[in-house]
Amino acid sequence: MSAYPEAAFLASAHRPAQFLPDEGAEVAFAGRSNSGKSSAINAIVGLKGLARTSKTPGRTQLVNFFSLGGERRITDLPGYGYARVPESVRRHWDRLMDAYFRTRRSLAGLFLLMDVRHPLTDFDRHLLAWAGAAGCPVHILLTKADKLSRGRGIATLQAVRRELGPGVSLQLFSALKGTGIDEAREALDVLLGTNVSAGQKEAPGA
Ligand code: GDP
Repeated sequence: MSAYPEAAFLASAHRPAQFLPDEGAEVAFAGRSNSGKSSAINAIVGLKGLARTSKTPGRTQLVNFFSLGGERRITDLPGYGYARVPESVRRHWDRLMDAYFRTRRSLAGLFLLMDVRHPLTDFDRHLLAWAGAAGCPVHILLTKADKLSRGRGIATLQAVRRELGPGVSLQLFSALKGTGIDEAREALDVLLGTNVSAGQKEAPGA
């Protein structure tokens, strides 16, 4: 039985005008490519293949919207990875993310996924800055926790917590081993039930 039995893909947006109607509550999932974002979305939402669209070509340039039922959504934000990306792709990503965080009134939280072995890259710091400017609460998943011993995982968790301060919640996560799935669902549900920044943003397309 899925935790979100009504979960379904809704649409992809290549530019802000294609964002879905800005209603209800939405939690965005972001992470560099290969951070384990697709696996995490599948594990948390409970449907295999749900995030398959993030595997399609051009995935660095699309915001994918999924319904969790009712007016609750998650978005799968585009990410890029270790390899250099063309400047045009990087510019498009910047514009798309800036528009998303600046205008999205329904944005209730950001799930930021970081490989526990490589936390707080420039990519991650960009996302944290956008979320901070938008007043958007952040929950961090340190992914692939099975790749480290429990002790080293906890040490990383504490180091990231020290660096980011008390405003950010974070946890260890492994889609492979099932570590932290319940905790992540709880955090997701809390964010979707609260929408603290509603009504404070610019109109889309501004
Ligand atoms: P995405 O590019 O961020 O969507 O990442 P994916 O979910 O496609 O995962 C990238 C790679 O990491 C794949 O080879 C996955 O099998 C692997 N991976 C994802 N989650 C885990 C995990 O919890 N543990 C381990 N060991 N590998 C994982």
